[in-house]
Amino acid sequence: MTTNEPLTQSVASLSGIGAQSVIRLQKLGIETLQDLVFHLPHRYEDRTRIYPINTITAGMTVLICGTVDFTDVLMGGRNSLICRISDNTAYITLRFFHFNAKQHSNLSPGTLISCFGEIRHGYQGLEIIHPEYKIISSTDNITEDCLSPIYPLTEGLRQASLRKAIKQSLSICLEQQQSLPDYLPEFILSKYQYPSLSAALQTLHSPEQQITAEQLQQGDLAALKRLAFEELLAHHLMLINNKTAYKKWQAPVFAANKTQRQEFTDSLPFKLTKAQQRIVDEITLDCNSHHPMLRLVQGDVGSGKTVVSAYAVLLAINAGYQVALMAPTELLAEQHHHSFKQWFKNIQSHIVYLTGRLRGQQRKDSLEAIEDGSAKLVIGTHALFQNSVHFKNLGLIIIDEQHRFGVHQRLALREKGQTKTQRPHQLIMTATPIPRTLAMLNYSDLDISIIDELPPGRKPVTTSVIPNQRRQQIIAKINQWTANKHQTYWVCTLIEESEVLQCEAAEKTTEHLKYSLPNVRVALVHGRMKTAEKEAIMQAFKNHEHDLLVATTVIEVGVDVPNASLIIIENAERLGLSQLHQLRGRVGRGEQQSYCLLVYQPPLSDTGRERLGILRESNDGFAIAEKDLQLRGPGDVMGTRQTGQVQLKIADLNRDTDLLDRVQETAQLMISKYPSAIQPLIDRWLGRSSQYSEV
Ligand code: ADP
Ligand code: MG
Repeated sequence: MTTNEPLTQSVASLSGIGAQSVIRLQKLGIETLQDLVFHLPHRYEDRTRIYPINTITAGMTVLICGTVDFTDVLMGGRNSLICRISDNTAYITLRFFHFNAKQHSNLSPGTLISCFGEIRHGYQGLEIIHPEYKIISSTDNITEDCLSPIYPLTEGLRQASLRKAIKQSLSICLEQQQSLPDYLPEFILSKYQYPSLSAALQTLHSPEQQITAEQLQQGDLAALKRLAFEELLAHHLMLINNKTAYKKWQAPVFAANKTQRQEFTDSLPFKLTKAQQRIVDEITLDCNSHHPMLRLVQGDVGSGKTVVSAYAVLLAINAGYQVALMAPTELLAEQHHHSFKQWFKNIQSHIVYLTGRLRGQQRKDSLEAIEDGSAKLVIGTHALFQNSVHFKNLGLIIIDEQHRFGVHQRLALREKGQTKTQRPHQLIMTATPIPRTLAMLNYSDLDISIIDELPPGRKPVTTSVIPNQRRQQIIAKINQWTANKHQTYWVCTLIEESEVLQCEAAEKTTEHLKYSLPNVRVALVHGRMKTAEKEAIMQAFKNHEHDLLVATTVIEVGVDVPNASLIIIENAERLGLSQLHQLRGRVGRGEQQSYCLLVYQPPLSDTGRERLGILRESNDGFAIAEKDLQLRGPGDVMGTRQTGQVQLKIADLNRDTDLLDRVQETAQLMISKYPSAIQPLIDRWLGRSSQYSEV
């Protein structure tokens, strides 16, 4: 391939693109002409017709024309320039908060102007705030033929110049048809009646006249569907590639024997559920093969994932290998540390704890034990994959609550255990039921096991939605609960972003509850406490030395106190559904009926009411996650702390779910029949971000 081909030709070769623009485009991941034509509009503006003012309603973004009736400066808290215009059907107000005298005088009565902007309800009927406007001499020739594409920008880059560059490179690509190869097999295109690649790109960059903004938004346009399909396919193939490549490596063999397994299950205070047994079987098989296990265990909160992972730990240690267990928070890491020490009493001294907060001699000791191999099981936070951590022979990596980590972090830890020929086994656990779309884009590189059964005797948590004003009733409920020897969580989820403020507010709430509940033993745990202090409080709560634990969302994942059966969550309307479900999962872990009170600050919006209603109606984490995805979009469902979030250019995980089956089928077809098209397709859509797929 020569560098003159659009696939690799630099954007610098376009007219109007100087050194500055090259750098700015780079920030958008754009280096070549191909990158440019695959930089797709994220929305469109409709300037194809002039709307009579009496036909517009709030919420529309439209082009209108009218003559100025009057223009005035309104004095007040915030001065504004008000300009009323009318056509022969109605009038509308334009409102400017930033304006100057010249603008005021230009908009003199009788002047004809065109303007474009979003229509809103104002004090005196409809208005547009800060419209784009132009003084015109007639309404002829002011409309455009097609919808105008609006592209994602970066600082310093203007819409008009980006649009021009994309136009240029698109026409270069179209002139040399074979320079922009269509990697989708002909057969697939005709099967799904998709347009060719060049036709699809052309439609999205300059939609034909008959195409409406609604069609593009709803996504039922063949051109858009085709590109969304291709993008999802590229992401899916990247992960499959990654998995295939990883599975080719050698891995340590952890031979299992029946006695070992029997001893393990006998040592537990309960019988494994069928689902847990099935996963133990899968893990046994995986670890006994010569290739690395890559398994995701998905199970709702409380389904008992930790025990299953303990079995894998046992296999690895018996085979003479080290295990790393990574948890997303210190509290959770501490809890695992505690549980594993209980379960593996005979190797207690070989269980090592490592988090970012560990300092000095303690840290040095941990690092040494990891390096010389005396640490058999290392439990910690993401500190485990820092550069200073060297394992002697890491054979198994366990990642708990994977949704809190990005794909990148998962891959980084993997590197810790690699030798020239071997790769470690990986077991990943998550309580967030991942909707299928997200799973396809995040976990296609893993084999998925689902724990679809809760330990016997668990009763679904009864959930109520209560306004903040009914606090007295809540407090009475806690009193009654405590008298019945049950324990309670009170979760302060605060409005402020800042951790300091959250903790302060949690302290205030604690004081207030201590005062209102003199017969209740109240304790507080929050994110800014020292590890040892937190651990001591949690342990004391577990031992029932406290009746009520006030906490910030640090208790969100994993905390396990079966006797706690009432949870009160403040400001519930501000949290995501999946997060609320996780918090609620702190109760319902024991034999008795548990309750969750979702307390909100009125007034509750319609969506707010709907969202909390979903939690009241359902205890099924999977259904809740699906709803959460519909209501909030994928970024939030996966958690804001996720760093490896998949960025999509055109596919929309809510809108395009109908494509999933064909994406999966086509991926299989390409792997078996068109393998050489796979890498170019991935590079085209994922660009340089696909580099992390290298294994
Ligand atoms: P999660 O899947 O949320 O991580 P855990 O592994 O923390 O769940 O288990 C939740 C609780 O259920 C723990 O107290 C654990 O000891 C208990 N548990 C796990 N498996 C079983 C079982 N098969 N029968 C009874 N209790 C179990
Ligand atoms: Mg857990």
